[in-house]
Amino acid sequence: TVQRLLPHASTIFAEVSDAARTHQAINLGQGFPDTEGPQSMLQVAADVIAAGGHNQYAPGRGVQELRNAVSTQISRDEGLTYDPDTEILVTVGATEGIASALLGLVEPGSEVVVIEPYYDSYAACVDLAGARRRTVPLVPAGETFVLDRDALAAACSNATSAVIVNSPHNPTGAVLSDGDLEAIAAECREHDIIAISDEVYEHLVFDGARHRSIARFEGMRERTVRVSSAAKSLSCTGWKIGWITAPADLIAGAMAAKQYLSFSSGTPLQIAVAHALEHEQAWIGELRAQLQAQRDQLYAALTGLGMGVSHCVGTYFLAADARPLGYSDATELCRRMPREIGVAAVPFSPFVDAGSAGAWSHLTRFAFCKRPEVLADAAERLSTLPI
Ligand code: PMP
Ligand code: GLN
Repeated sequence: TVQRLLPHASTIFAEVSDAARTHQAINLGQGFPDTEGPQSMLQVAADVIAAGGHNQYAPGRGVQELRNAVSTQISRDEGLTYDPDTEILVTVGATEGIASALLGLVEPGSEVVVIEPYYDSYAACVDLAGARRRTVPLVPAGETFVLDRDALAAACSNATSAVIVNSPHNPTGAVLSDGDLEAIAAECREHDIIAISDEVYEHLVFDGARHRSIARFEGMRERTVRVSSAAKSLSCTGWKIGWITAPADLIAGAMAAKQYLSFSSGTPLQIAVAHALEHEQAWIGELRAQLQAQRDQLYAALTGLGMGVSHCVGTYFLAADARPLGYSDATELCRRMPREIGVAAVPFSPFVDAGSAGAWSHLTRFAFCKRPEVLADAAERLSTLPI
């Protein structure tokens, strides 16, 4: 393994899902749903595969139907228009979208600002690109988390090539306020920084909250790579169909990298996702309502144990404080739980820099994207805590 990947040699998600399988634990660690996406989407995929004619390479940019559907969806939801021919690139999940943007748009040695805690692939891909990571922390504010704007201002300079934004935010469940997004936008405008905005949870916001892309802020459409995916919105994490939208010059850079990573993928699945984006808006609304109820169910179980649990505005995740259970280090709790009580969760430590682990080590991330009966079983098992 090359030096720059040594810190990222194994992901927490592979580890936690292995532990869950070994101990037949309920997996509230890796975020994936246990229900299927819309039936019509599954049927279109099956029909398209069986009919033949769409089982070879897709165009490098992605099938036209999906680029058109993404363009329509973003225009409807955000009021932003992207040209399907030049401003949309279909990727192997959001993961490849993020990797391609970093590899294709960030010079080695330049700085990339990352909000901490961060989804683990950001740090790995910044290192893959040979760039330097500058982290800006979220800080607790009441029941949620907000951006440390002073730290943001200190981290951004003319050496910064990109800032990675993620809202709704994994792993805290926070949604960045318009004020925090505007603070990031102001730095981007001042220092000519690209925003890589991971919006995979764009549709999974609760209690009537609305998602707002940073691309909508003044001067930001021209400098934002907006990343999203079918995985969470349409409950098909195994399909790995994602996309990025950006001005043509930024798409060109990302595409220069993407064409040598995978060229293209999943032709029939792209067609099925296009169909669902066009026809299954109501289904996504129902998913959101179900997830909100599941969030409340797991929140009640965790607070019932005495854990402090932050308010989740969006995503699949609740952040819970392990200290009331006697664990200042959630890693230890997460190591013991699968074997001893049959529930898996992940600590925050893989999502933060080693140097700032102290501020986050007491937090555990629990995923609530599971059927109510599964969450009820998990709650019963959790009720035997503390161990
Ligand atoms: N970004 C965030 C914040 C995520 O939680 C995930 C996991 N869905 C991804 C990116 C990766 O998405 P995909 O599975 O589409 O590659
Ligand atoms: N995004 C999912 C999570 O945060 C995991 C994706 C993965 O396994 N790489 O749990």
